[in-house]
Amino acid sequence: MGRIYNFSAGPAVLPEEVLKEAAEEMLDYKGTGMSVMEMSHRSKAFEEIIQEAEKDLRELMNIPDNYKVLFVQGGASQQFAAVPMNLMKNKVADYIVTGQWAKKAYLEACLYGKANIIASSADKTFSYIPDCSDLPVSEDADYVYICENNTIYGTKFKTLPNTKGKPLVADVSSCILSEPVDVTKYGVMFAGAQKNIGPAGVVIVIIREDLITEDTLPGTPTMLKYKIHADNNSLYNTPPAYGIYICGKVFKWVKKMGGLEVMKKRNEEKAKILYDFLDESKLFKGTVAKEDRSLMNVPFITGSDELDAKFIKEAKAAGFENLKGHRTVGGMRASIYNAMPIDGVKALVEFMKKFEDENLSRL
Ligand SMILES: *Cc1c(COP(=O)(O)O)cnc(C)c1O
Repeated sequence: MGRIYNFSAGPAVLPEEVLKEAAEEMLDYKGTGMSVMEMSHRSKAFEEIIQEAEKDLRELMNIPDNYKVLFVQGGASQQFAAVPMNLMKNKVADYIVTGQWAKKAYLEACLYGKANIIASSADKTFSYIPDCSDLPVSEDADYVYICENNTIYGTKFKTLPNTKGKPLVADVSSCILSEPVDVTKYGVMFAGAQKNIGPAGVVIVIIREDLITEDTLPGTPTMLKYKIHADNNSLYNTPPAYGIYICGKVFKWVKKMGGLEVMKKRNEEKAKILYDFLDESKLFKGTVAKEDRSLMNVPFITGSDELDAKFIKEAKAAGFENLKGHRTVGGMRASIYNAMPIDGVKALVEFMKKFEDENLSRL
């Protein structure tokens, strides 16, 4: 059984090299006589793993010294609560709702204070990014929140919103490491690792130091306090050790590939192959505003539910897995994260062309 092309939105494809290395080290990690899964998170070997992972991530993303990098658990969804609990000093926050993940974050914040929706693309089923150049940012807002790449709908902020001086909090789960970013533009960025980095169970939080305070909302669980994790270098309790180890390997792979500039070029090249085909196809079409298209998640439809189902079934049989759109939106979605090889996208487009030729008459 060979490997298939896995277009899953998450957990998603990992670089083959990383998996092979992890396999080689499975029984005996660098002469320790044990797997990383079996070792103490206080051991020297693991300390090196987590420190090196952080160092490599800092280098890749050019993270300034006044930002902390935290490895935590609870999924990106846990951050929907952690953000307001740590940051809502005035109990006011402004949310830009561009999809389900942003909406969930907004609803969670409503549990803790006054959350306002200051922009939304719900009117057109989240198929675009609203103009965020002059938003009605609340005077006493503790932060402005976005989901930078909308995994389900396939849109991406190409310009960050004008937050009028308020800290920007961004869920970057599905775009982290896909291109260079200016970390200084953010107060907090967080990402569930299972999209563009690899293993589920790790969440990376990159947070400006002045936003890490003792002054959290009353009742904030210890495990949700950024300060606890920052003060303990992400080792307050047992961290998701094996996941962090795999993250570290992915960081090294991205570095070896040439870093984020090269990743961006590769991702643009891959996405262009797919989008160019969608734009010329008589059967398939993309579902989002062209200027807001994500490089990572590419939703498309035929316009017929029946043909969509047929396509997904035949694609699966041909070795293209997980092309079904999110259960709430239907259609198809190809997630083409960093680890998806360009050949996978080329092969998918070839398959789509063939399907189009065979099925155009049915439309
Ligand atoms: C997948 C995803 C989430 C949810 O992540 P969990 O780790 O399952 O909580 C949140 N935000 C975005 C943008 C996602 O893609």
